Amino acid sequence: MVIHVCDEAKDLKKDFFCPRDLLVKEMKYFAEYLSSDAQRWEEVDISVHCDVQIFDWLMKYAKRHLSQSDIERPKLEPGNVVSILISSDFLKMDSLVQECIEFCYKNISAIVSTNCNMNCINDTLLSRIADLFSHTEGDEILDRKDKFKSKLFSKKLEKLFDRNYNSPDSLGSASSLHRCSVCKRLLTDTMKKRVKCMPSRMTIDKHGNLTYSHLRDTSFDVNEYLIDLKSQLKTWKDVYWRVWGTINTLPCSRCSEIFPLVEFGHCKYHPEAPRYDNSILEGGSCIGNYPCCHQNTLRFDPTQQNKGCRVKDHIVYINENTSSSSPDVTLQQHQKVYDDLLAHREIICVPYQRPTE
Ligand SMILES: [Zn+2]
Ligand SMILES: [Zn+2]
Ligand SMILES: [Zn+2]
Repeated sequence: MVIHVCDEAKDLKKDFFCPRDLLVKEMKYFAEYLSSDAQRWEEVDISVHCDVQIFDWLMKYAKRHLSQSDIERPKLEPGNVVSILISSDFLKMDSLVQECIEFCYKNISAIVSTNCNMNCINDTLLSRIADLFSHTEGDEILDRKDKFKSKLFSKKLEKLFDRNYNSPDSLGSASSLHRCSVCKRLLTDTMKKRVKCMPSRMTIDKHGNLTYSHLRDTSFDVNEYLIDLKSQLKTWKDVYWRVWGTINTLPCSRCSEIFPLVEFGHCKYHPEAPRYDNSILEGGSCIGNYPCCHQNTLRFDPTQQNKGCRVKDHIVYINENTSSSSPDVTLQQHQKVYDDLLAHREIICVPYQRPTE
């Protein structure tokens, strides 16, 4: 059959020939329009609006298995892959679409340095490309004109908020993100059971353990939060890392707390040990005093409050017990979270502010 290709951009017209069966098999888009009734499709006239060169490429690809033809299988290149991806998606050439997506993943830095236009890649395709990139790989893309990197990270950010999506890069999901009106922390449903609140929210459970119950701030609007973050951090990449650091946690061996990654530098401590008045006559005092900040302290404090007057980095301690609190998570996954935190801490971490209550 004849396919009339009309290239408006270059003001060109060209006819291509292809057996009907092959056309329908390779470009499923046409299957919907070409009925199996042979008499009817004889009369059908196909016109396609497409770049002539790209359609020529696609035709060669469609004919790649024809043994009698001397047509070589055409090659994907950084300069043509985006156009071929978009056209092959439109024409429903599924295996070629998959090839283009994988090519994009492997050659993205070369692709963005060509004069291709990545704005025409639709959301579904972008989502499939984004799935191939780990966030570290995404971060390493060289993209001077930002043709792709911001798109990638805004897609990755969107996926953090999708409750049905399991990100291989993030143990936490932002789908339940909310704020506590007492400690002002941003929390997820998983985190709210592990991260401490302020002393006023401390209770003792029926097993005699200290627990904290955060108080959900009903005025918190997650969209407003993201808009604020975007205007503050400027790029979607940085917004992504900040949110990622907000919804993921690690344990600290010094303060024994589970901390959100954004608070990596907030491990409270006293630079000097407390002094107890050990007068023998009084049998030793239970109340001590920190010389560094003159705070009083109890020798045996049942509330286990950490009132350290200085802050430094938490000491991340990952062992089998870390994983046992969430059995699906392996040691390696925790280690990966820690590595990612260290590599991006400049963007992830927020400065410490002494809480006011
Ligand atoms: Zn709280
Ligand atoms: Zn102190
Ligand atoms: Zn700590």
